[in-house]
Amino acid sequence: MPKGKEQFIKNFEDRVKETIKKYNLIDKEDRVMVACSGGKDSTTTLYLLNKFGYSVEAIIIDLLIGNYSKENLENTKLFCKENGIKLHVVSFKEEFGYSVCYMRSVLKSRHKLKSCTVCGVLRRVLLNKKVRELNATKLATGHNLDDEAQTVLMNFIQGNMGLSAKLGPRTGRISDRKFVPRIKPLYFCSEGETRKYSEMMEFPVVYDRCPCSTDTYRSSIRDILDDLEIESPGIKQNLVNNLLDILPALKEHYKTTEKLMHCELCGEPSRNAVCSACGLIQKLRA
Ligand code: SF4
Ligand SMILES: [Zn+2]
Repeated sequence: MPKGKEQFIKNFEDRVKETIKKYNLIDKEDRVMVACSGGKDSTTTLYLLNKFGYSVEAIIIDLLIGNYSKENLENTKLFCKENGIKLHVVSFKEEFGYSVCYMRSVLKSRHKLKSCTVCGVLRRVLLNKKVRELNATKLATGHNLDDEAQTVLMNFIQGNMGLSAKLGPRTGRISDRKFVPRIKPLYFCSEGETRKYSEMMEFPVVYDRCPCSTDTYRSSIRDILDDLEIESPGIKQNLVNNLLDILPALKEHYKTTEKLMHCELCGEPSRNAVCSACGLIQKLRA
């Protein structure tokens, strides 16, 4: 292996190891479930946690978004088989009774909800439920530095600083027996670096973006940050570092204002009497 390539791989892996250690993301007794999408970020996360010797399994929600989902599912199955990792496949349609495409198109036209809002909310609730049922103690996601920087800026611009109190390498500020803590081992790895690592390792992944993600607010923020990063390298890292500096104060400030309840319809953790997933299903049936 050429020296530069070998060095990059070592630096990347050391940074992920360091993040896990510094933020105490995984304990020895943890059973970690990695939320896979078939993309480079979650595949890299899965590969590294397995390589580092943690007790790890994978879960993927089959969204049935045409060829995109099909390819991602096949790639994840292949990757898990080659690496000896147990994979759990959950069908979105079987769980909710509708395909994600149907739900998105109805809710989009009736309530002007964006694709990712519908898909993201339903996936988040479903993942927490399934991962808890599978007795995992941590849910690892492939969120990288770019994702976090985008979220910090979005929350700031939209006046949602309270939402930023939930960010950081370990997500969540309220503990609840039904809520599986989430961790982000790639927290300090940029999107570009993760892609480079994934390509060097020749992981079987599709690098195209989800075909439904084009209309999101996040895409505009991503473009702005990418442009600014070219002009002033390091701004994404600065955004994330600044968040980490004020995170303890944010957590303290928003600590008492919100409590986690359990949804009166599905029993899942929720900030309101009815959780956001059940709220969407109610809207769909109205
Ligand atoms: S990009 Fe949006 S629509 Fe596509 S899988 Fe992600 S959340 Fe769902
Ligand atoms: Zn609910």
